[in-house]
Amino acid sequence: MTSQVTKSEQEWREQLTPEQYEVLRRKGTEPPGTGKYAYSKEDGVYRCAACGAELFSSDAKFESGTGWPSFTEPANNANVKLAKDRKWGMTRTEVLCGSCGSHLGHVFNDGPGPTGQRYCINSVALDLKGKTDEG
Ligand code: FE
Repeated sequence: MTSQVTKSEQEWREQLTPEQYEVLRRKGTEPPGTGKYAYSKEDGVYRCAACGAELFSSDAKFESGTGWPSFTEPANNANVKLAKDRKWGMTRTEVLCGSCGSHLGHVFNDGPGPTGQRYCINSVALDLKGKTDEG
């Protein structure tokens, strides 16, 4: 069980950088290939940049060629929420932080792993920490 984080948009605006706010709270998308984790191969745990919830392990990261960090599965299914997204005339599955509800990216069914899933996540929504909490 993750703890539920509830903040006002004003509080989020004060806590997050403008780029983080645009993606996490306004469901924006960073330009492909620009994010700091797009090509990262560092070991660790990718946490929610808004609330710190553990979202993805570096073990599940793969090079998708999209310019966004891509994962075959969440670190813990309970830590992400999925929602239908019908913006821009497409039907996609949005990925949200299960703890604070912030927008992370989308998940597609063309991944390389046994589940066939590709979690396509914005770098700016993530914060890579070491395997332990000391980071
Ligand atoms: Fe979060």
